[in-house]
Amino acid sequence: MPKEILRDRAPDMWRYREVLPGCKPVTLGEGFTPLHSAHQLGPHWLVKDESMNPTGSFKARGMSAAISVAWHFGYDRVATPSAGNAASAMAAYAAAAGQEAFVFMPSDTPRPIIEECRALGAKVELVDGLITDCGKIVRERTQKMQWFDLSTLREPYRIEGKKTMGYELVEQMDFRVPDAIVYPTGGGTGLIGMWKAFDEMEQLGWIDSKRPKMISVQAKGCAPIVRAFDRGDRFADEFENPYTYASGLRVPKAIGDFIMLDLIRESKGTAVTVTDQEMAHGVEALGSTTGIYAAPEGGAVVAAAEKLTESGFLDHFETVVLFCTGSGLKYAGSTPMEPTD
Ligand SMILES: *Cc1c(COP(=O)(O)O)cnc(C)c1O
Repeated sequence: MPKEILRDRAPDMWRYREVLPGCKPVTLGEGFTPLHSAHQLGPHWLVKDESMNPTGSFKARGMSAAISVAWHFGYDRVATPSAGNAASAMAAYAAAAGQEAFVFMPSDTPRPIIEECRALGAKVELVDGLITDCGKIVRERTQKMQWFDLSTLREPYRIEGKKTMGYELVEQMDFRVPDAIVYPTGGGTGLIGMWKAFDEMEQLGWIDSKRPKMISVQAKGCAPIVRAFDRGDRFADEFENPYTYASGLRVPKAIGDFIMLDLIRESKGTAVTVTDQEMAHGVEALGSTTGIYAAPEGGAVVAAAEKLTESGFLDHFETVVLFCTGSGLKYAGSTPMEPTD
């Protein structure tokens, strides 16, 4: 796959079709999101604005790939547990493919996302619990309901879609990698997908062996990966009493914990927490200087990059890519949460 073939391709994630599942794409124009300068925040900071995707988050990439494969294999029902954005992305692509969609979300998922799922035709079940509880329900009913289970990292295709963030970043940076990538981490597919993309691009001869420092950002109220990173553990224990208004980060236990922890260490990156208040400030800092209205997860990344610059982990000469993973519009009415105990 010589990089020259990209020249004539449409600006969406299927421009990398040689490295994606080889079936007919179910597409809504996902991917090829803008990479903006955020020099007002840091001299060499860039923002990858994933809020421009269909349904307003990077989850669209994974669901475009996964629904395409499910459709290819003749599934007409799909299901997922979700903290919010994965559900509406799945609902959208299932609608486009003519499939029935079943989504299971915590009852305190941001309202606009719940309404979005319903408008997109999904059967919505609100669960009094966390995404992990929703996941149990999906697995219990899979056999009886005959649906394709699209839970994070339990099928191999969502990650394939998400890895295109890595491909795009490199293409948009003229086939170089940045010094650091700062990413808000829940289930971890963003980090894992991009890491896979870098290895593939090295094999394709697009980049050399240099890798960005991979920096995972979690909420102070739900930080299983940061805690395991600090302890030097390879696996992350479930985080008790998790809270944060960044619903995408409210993932107390991630099935891909060891993959994330390995890659963070191998890349000489780090893992840090920010409070909900710091996320909210990050949203304002990004919005007022760049014109991008970020989800709290995007604000978290801004706050984390500022902290890491103060601590000296990042320096002013480094090119730092901040991932704004979703749109602030989907969190209308949500406000920073305080500890409950
Ligand atoms: C899902 C989600 C995340 C977390 O991403 P993972 O790849 O699951 O770690 C971050 N931000 C937003 C807006 C999300 O929807």
